[in-house]
Amino acid sequence: MKTVISVEEARRIVLDAISQSLGVEHLPLADALGRTLAEAVVSRDAIPPFDNSAMDGFAVCIEDFADDTATLDLIGEVAAGGVPTEAVRPGTCVRIMTGAPVPEGADAVAPVEWTETEAGRVQISRAPTPRQHIRRAGEDVQPGDEMIAAGSVVTPPVVGMAATLGYPEIAVRMPPRVSVVATGDELVDAGTDPGPGQIRDANGPALAAQVVSAGGTVLGPFHARDDEADARVVLEQALDADVLLVSGGVSMGDYDIVKEVLDDLGVTWHFWKVRQRPGKPLAFGTHPFGTRGNTLVFGLPGNPVSSSVCFEQYVRPALAVLLGRYTVLRPRIPAVLAEPVKKAAGLLHFIRGIAEFSSDGPLRVRPTGAQGSGLYSSMLRADVLIHLPEDMEHPAVGTPVEVEWLHW
Ligand code: AMP
Ligand code: MG
Repeated sequence: MKTVISVEEARRIVLDAISQSLGVEHLPLADALGRTLAEAVVSRDAIPPFDNSAMDGFAVCIEDFADDTATLDLIGEVAAGGVPTEAVRPGTCVRIMTGAPVPEGADAVAPVEWTETEAGRVQISRAPTPRQHIRRAGEDVQPGDEMIAAGSVVTPPVVGMAATLGYPEIAVRMPPRVSVVATGDELVDAGTDPGPGQIRDANGPALAAQVVSAGGTVLGPFHARDDEADARVVLEQALDADVLLVSGGVSMGDYDIVKEVLDDLGVTWHFWKVRQRPGKPLAFGTHPFGTRGNTLVFGLPGNPVSSSVCFEQYVRPALAVLLGRYTVLRPRIPAVLAEPVKKAAGLLHFIRGIAEFSSDGPLRVRPTGAQGSGLYSSMLRADVLIHLPEDMEHPAVGTPVEVEWLHW
């Protein structure tokens, strides 16, 4: 087992440990939002399927506009959903609505705003250019185009495009099954008044919510006491999952028994402790469970800030890889510090930050306030995580930094 490794190395070890791929299910488009495409969506058709008008106006022949204006005989009309009955010949025009098929012979559409109609004659005051206001068949999509790659997240435009291309159902990955276990004798649930020495469990519910927001499905949340026998029963059951998240019990205290119990249950630990703040005691291992591949096991530090930052840095990307997602890490955005930050060299700091946009100059970010890992409110108010590299010391106002947007 490695120890006291960098954030980059820790993330690489986690992502390299993923061997399984999740099953595939076919879902109606209406149920697929937020899921991950398992197969590419390829167009069988041209979109638009036929030349059609981009404006309400008149389908015309360009050759009638030798002197920039024209007066034409109105010989018919075609609406969206209709089919032209007349071809347009020189000297004539057809009234056409947006989306209607362009009649044979017409090579432009003059918008209604350029025209006056009287007694079956249309006066057009400007010359359209060739093909103007005609949307050409196939200008958006060609048959055979791979329009949506496997690994894309199903967004509303993905739903709309899949519908356009004639896919009422799409193939998506089954959500990874993620067990959430909160450990600690001090924990009670949100509906209970804490007794002396007790606190309410924040990590169980918060981690469960993070799992759902990252595309997983939650088993639990379970609770284990700081007692080997009790923890063993709970953890053994919880190991039957793609991912096991255990909060608490991985530090140095006498009651930090999680690593030993999981060791006994057959978990191989790959690293313990990462050069980061918060979250230094993070532990990561794998368990070969049945035929499904490895269970990824994360021992998350119990402080709620540490637990949620470690989820964002390691667990969310791991779930993205399991899902076969195209994009695994959130984009990093350049910004500058709007306040100095106290920081010694040695650990990478994830500062919970508030972002301020300005019309001129770069994005400015400042800490949400005191950054103690026991202060959960620092996470609550954060728009971004500001990444301060290991070797950075006491950065001043104006220091360029990278930030990660926390759109949950
Ligand atoms: P541990 O990692 O178990 O040593 O816990 C570190 C700190 O986090 C202690 O103050 C714990 O009381 C607190 N803590 C542990 N688990 C939770 C939890 N699920 N919800 C809120 N606080 C917790
Ligand atoms: Mg504990």
